[in-house]
Amino acid sequence: MYNSRITMVETLFQRDIKIKRVTTLGYSAAQALNDPVRIKILEILSHVQMCAEEITKTLGSSGYKKATTTIRHHLDTLKSAGLIQATKMVEVRGAVMKYYSPTLRAFSYDMPDLEKHVKLVDDTGTKMFKILKSVLEDKKFIAAFVGKDACGQCKGDHYKEYAALEIVSAALAKAMDRKEYAELIIGKEQPKK
Ligand SMILES: [Zn+2]
Repeated sequence: MYNSRITMVETLFQRDIKIKRVTTLGYSAAQALNDPVRIKILEILSHVQMCAEEITKTLGSSGYKKATTTIRHHLDTLKSAGLIQATKMVEVRGAVMKYYSPTLRAFSYDMPDLEKHVKLVDDTGTKMFKILKSVLEDKKFIAAFVGKDACGQCKGDHYKEYAALEIVSAALAKAMDRKEYAELIIGKEQPKK
């Protein structure tokens, strides 16, 4: 006997948790998004490019009363994280106004009840697997991203996984950029009788 003491382990609670959502964010982007006003700014900019003054006004009318200097600070944070880019500069009576557009589309809602849509999630998952497989098996993808981060815990290459998800995310943004996508969201005019 090398150990005469018996350690009692009593499990008080145990359950399996399934991953429900996936997100890929760099550290600076994650920090930049850790603020409801900055998420709101990204939402506003996804509709139309605006300068700090216009953003301040728009936020004010939707219940987020902030000073323009505060908004400028938020814009700096978003810009350093690469989540917005300056799109134009205008001079108005000697003052330079910078307009911004987002590089990330953020949606801020409470989590929808996906439990009721298991079949749609399953069917879409089947299609997504084919898409992920095609990315992970792509020759150029393999040459560029494989073998960068072998995991000590599962022998997986999580950098490869991350890169594939970034490609899928960029592809999703590209799909959402299509004219047909806008029609799906806004809806076509009802046919006249
Ligand atoms: Zn791992």
